[in-house]
Order: sequence, then C-alpha cells, then structure tokens
Amino acid sequence: MLRCYIGLGSNQGDSKSIIAEVLKKLNGSTGIEVTGVAPLYRTAPQGYLEQDDFINTVAEINTTLSPLALLSALQQIETDLGRVRTVRWGPRTVDLDLLLYGDETIILPKLQVPHPRMHQRAFVMVPLADLNKELELSGERVSVTAKRLAGEQRIVKLDDMRLS
Ligand code: ATP
Ligand code: CA
Ligand code: CA
Repeated sequence: MLRCYIGLGSNQGDSKSIIAEVLKKLNGSTGIEVTGVAPLYRTAPQGYLEQDDFINTVAEINTTLSPLALLSALQQIETDLGRVRTVRWGPRTVDLDLLLYGDETIILPKLQVPHPRMHQRAFVMVPLADLNKELELSGERVSVTAKRLAGEQRIVKLDDMRLS
C-alpha cells in the first residue's frame, strides 16, 4: 500500500461537479482509496493563456496499483469524463496528474514522478500543502514553496466549495 498524490484540474463544463465525479470514480477504482481531498481553488491558466480559469485541487490516495497501472486508471477516468486532447496545456474537462508515488522517483517515457513541473505551480503546491505540511520536495517543505508561489501566481481558495 502506497500513499500518492493526484493533481486534479478542470476548466470546461461544470468543473466543480466534474471534480466531484472524478473523486467518486477514483475512490471506486480497484486498488485506489481516496484518503483526503484539499479545498478547491480557482487559478489562472498557465502555458496557454487564452482560456478560462481552472478549478484545481489535490487528492491523497492509498493504492496497491503499480505506477503505470495507476497512470492508466487516471487516463481512463479522464476519457470517461469526456476529455478530448487538443492543444497542449489547453482547455480540458479534466486533467489528472500523478504528482507523487510514495517517495519514488520514476523516469519512463510515459511517466515522470515527481511530476516534473509541480514545484513551479501554485495550483499544485498550495492544495498539496493543505493536505500535508510536512512533505518535502527537492529539499524544501511544500508549505514553503506553496507560500512563495501563491505570492506570484493568481490563486483563490473557494472556501464555500469544499468537497469531501
Ligand atoms: P503537464 O504534464 O505539464 O501538466 P498536461 O497535464 O496538459 O501537461 P497531458 O496532455 O495531460 O499533459 O499529458 C501528456 C503526457 O504526460 C501523458 O500522455 C503521460 O504519458 C505523460 N506523463 C508523464 N508524467 C506524468 C505524470 N506524472 N502524470 C500524468 N501524466 C504524465
Ligand atoms: Ca497537468
Ligand atoms: Ca496530465
């Protein structure tokens, strides 16, 4: 059984309901148990700016799945919820990224963990810090990284939209 963190994002359709549906599907997947969910955040798009704001959060799970099996499960949920791949970093009904898989480092063509861009993203590090203040990533506590990034990037907590 391994503890993992999954980043969730949506900026197409009813993002709040979509994220609720994703969490239900995640928890219903064989070999995955959702053990925590951070609050929801509204965040500015990055990479490709001409698109709507995102709703983001991070889920903590316990899993018995291998890293690649977990990635497939995440991609299956994306497809089930109608994600169509168009522009890189463009609009999507849902994006599920495997952020951390225990404390393992994985470098495969299809899967890099820790997620290679997570430490630059307020929309990942802020909800991750909500879930686990003790966690460290490349020698820095995620709460410290999160605080710095929250001062640099647009991110608003949706207190009234807390799921779980
Ligand atoms: P980013 O990776 O910068 O967040 P993205 O989420 O928009 O961008 P996608 O189009 O969703 O990128 O994924 C592209 C590919 O990234 C996937 O097909 C997958 O094989 C690969 N990938 C590598 N590492 C990971 C990871 N840790 N989690 C999810 N996908 C990953
Ligand atoms: Ca992503
Ligand atoms: Ca992705």
